[in-house]
Amino acid sequence: MAAPRLFAAAAVSAALVLVPVSAGAAPFGPGAAGSGEKYFPGMGNGGYDVAHYGIKLDYDPVSLALTGRVKITATAKQGLSRFNLDLRGLLVRSVAVDGKAAKWKRTGAQELVITPAKGIPDGRRFTVVVAYDGKPAQINDDPLGSSGWIATSDGAVALNQPFGAATWFPVNDTPKDKASYDFAITVPQGLTAIANGDFLGRKTAKGKSVYRWRMKQPMSSELSMVAIGKYKVLRTNTGGLESYTAIDSALAESGQLKKYDKKTRSVLRWLSGRFGAYPFTSTGGILDEVNVGYSLETQGRPVHDWNMKGKNPPDDLIVHELAHQWFGDSVTPAKWKDIWLNEGFATYAEWMWTEKNGGATAAQQFKQAYSAGPNADVWKGVLAEPGRDHIFDNFVYQRGAMTAHRLRVALGDKVFFGLLKSWLATGKGGTVSTKEFQAFAERYSGKQLDALFAKWVYKAGKPKL
Ligand SMILES: [Zn+2]
Repeated sequence: MAAPRLFAAAAVSAALVLVPVSAGAAPFGPGAAGSGEKYFPGMGNGGYDVAHYGIKLDYDPVSLALTGRVKITATAKQGLSRFNLDLRGLLVRSVAVDGKAAKWKRTGAQELVITPAKGIPDGRRFTVVVAYDGKPAQINDDPLGSSGWIATSDGAVALNQPFGAATWFPVNDTPKDKASYDFAITVPQGLTAIANGDFLGRKTAKGKSVYRWRMKQPMSSELSMVAIGKYKVLRTNTGGLESYTAIDSALAESGQLKKYDKKTRSVLRWLSGRFGAYPFTSTGGILDEVNVGYSLETQGRPVHDWNMKGKNPPDDLIVHELAHQWFGDSVTPAKWKDIWLNEGFATYAEWMWTEKNGGATAAQQFKQAYSAGPNADVWKGVLAEPGRDHIFDNFVYQRGAMTAHRLRVALGDKVFFGLLKSWLATGKGGTVSTKEFQAFAERYSGKQLDALFAKWVYKAGKPKL
């Protein structure tokens, strides 16, 4: 996420209750109602791992009604007597597990508790189909801002970071359960529906259009996205990389899409040189007026909340969200407390871009950021434990980028950039932690980094150089 350009509990882990069924039968128990996420205890669930979401949506921007049918393919990580999905609001019409009707109930803010007709054995692949409808309600969180399914003047945009996904589909809403996604989105003819990944085509009949999209690479639910509206669209294919770029037709001026596409491609080429091969099979971007005050690194195709007619976002914003395709999307912190691994490096990519283009060097930008007085806000938080309400605070970005720079200084350019490439290649498609990053950096460089991490990552206050 990036904001500055536009606008200046204990883990829930239900005890595993073993229910003896009969001699020799596998034991079954309920999956946990949480995923061990400290900052957002209700997010995610235990007992299974999702491999794929097949999401079918039909949206009417006049009545604001959403009708959904989602097929989840998952693997049981324990014998399951029942399990939870996350879903906020909306009316569940039916639930089936492996094709058989299942019982369900709604509890708490976002728990859909599903009891299949019979227990699911540990290790078994199973499917869940949930049919639902209703008017999705966006989340307005103070201080984390607006997220989820957000109605716009001509459609809707779904932005999920950190916990908006459950406002529009049933989901295991934790960054650590990545899956592939298929989308089929039906909208009134004349509107365009965009999601993550590769565009598979559009069919129009009886006044409605169905747009199909596919994200083949593993994706965290917080990075999934839908954008529906009147868009001007540009599709290009250069060197095998498909790009799909869309601008709200009320904002677009002639030539703007081409410029935006060209910028995206040149930034991706440069980032690939620094970070290694681009991790996805398509790219692009979306400019739309969503009124959330931020840009988001939705996987494969960032969304910029935007209202400046004929203008594209500034380079540093485009660089930031595209850098996240590596730091955040391909390699994703399993827990929200480690979000500096995203924001620090995406911000550092901005510094590097400025340096590359003849502006201030990264060293000069570090010096500038570091010159903040000892009582400045930027020194008040702990990078690896910012606290629930502070995951998007400026210090996560600035102290994060400063930490990246200190690491560069400690290791030297050759080792530092080699480390970044190796870390991203090794972690591709997976989830990580700050501890793993430090251990990896130490192994890669052969240097002991405890002192650097202790000062910059695990303690508040202005570190001594
Ligand atoms: Zn960001």
